[in-house]
Amino acid sequence: MSLSLNWSVKRLTTKFEFKIARSAETYYDSVILELSDGTHTGFGESLPNKRYENGADAVCALLNQFKSKILDLPVADYESRQSALENLFPTSFSLQAAVDTAFWDLQGQIAQKPLWKLFGAQKKMVTSSYTIGISDLNIIPEKIREATPYSLLKIKLGTDYDHDIIRAIRAETDKVLRVDVNEGWKTLDDAKRGAEWLAEENVEFLEQPMPANQLDDIAKLYEFSPLPLVADENSVRPEDIPGLVGAYDGINIKLMKCGGLTNARKMVDLAQQYNFDIMLGCMLESSVGISAMAQLGSFAKWLDLDGNVLISNDPFMGVRNESGEMILSEKPGLGIAPR
Ligand SMILES: [Mg+2]
Repeated sequence: MSLSLNWSVKRLTTKFEFKIARSAETYYDSVILELSDGTHTGFGESLPNKRYENGADAVCALLNQFKSKILDLPVADYESRQSALENLFPTSFSLQAAVDTAFWDLQGQIAQKPLWKLFGAQKKMVTSSYTIGISDLNIIPEKIREATPYSLLKIKLGTDYDHDIIRAIRAETDKVLRVDVNEGWKTLDDAKRGAEWLAEENVEFLEQPMPANQLDDIAKLYEFSPLPLVADENSVRPEDIPGLVGAYDGINIKLMKCGGLTNARKMVDLAQQYNFDIMLGCMLESSVGISAMAQLGSFAKWLDLDGNVLISNDPFMGVRNESGEMILSEKPGLGIAPR
């Protein structure tokens, strides 16, 4: 089979400034891959995250350099393809993800099956949350109004005014909250106080309360915490999972960290083996990345697949998000199309 590969950079604009404990952005540059066999076109997305790797320019430079090697990768043998990708791009997880996803999309279209079927998943999945980034207190009422259709809110904390944020949110809504600190609490005492306080605020779980390199402290917090703890910055790749036993209740899997659907599926298996609850999450990806992760949606206890509804210029159509209900298509592969 003779393949061709093209790519382009799309600047995805956020509806609100997207601020978390360590960064604030109004746009993200996403590299969209198109892998064609002459009949079908598979799509993939690389949205490099600054915490883990360099930006879209670096991704494009790697694509230029290694295009012919990518075209030589096997379409059907996803395991050897994944190890080849990890050798080619050891530090660009998002590029691994883009290539792996494009191959899976192609593979699904050739097989005439949606990927969720090929992965042994179900079409139905739990409701996804909607993220409220860090913002000035006077913007919070507007953000909560914008989130009216969504029943589950994920709140970003890790500031020096966390109590004010929760107070402002609670003045507007009594919805269940999930809290993501993005490594923002630096001492065990702060984290203990935070967990105790949030347990009184109708919060469902606490995500990455402390820096990933303070895993010993997180294990102490785990012993104490009235709320379940979910790893995100601590659960990047499949090999991270065994080391999280005794520190977390659940793990958040994201394509842009783990390197694609092949590794995400592997992380689902490992999480089940080690008795972790599974969350599937995202960066602020377009409908390419979100539709890809949604293929595994039925494996998750918690879903946070809202990237494409947090941007205003999604270049693709794919999985539909209706008030947090994720609706997959029966179309083969990822089931996506450019707008
Ligand atoms: Mg997170």
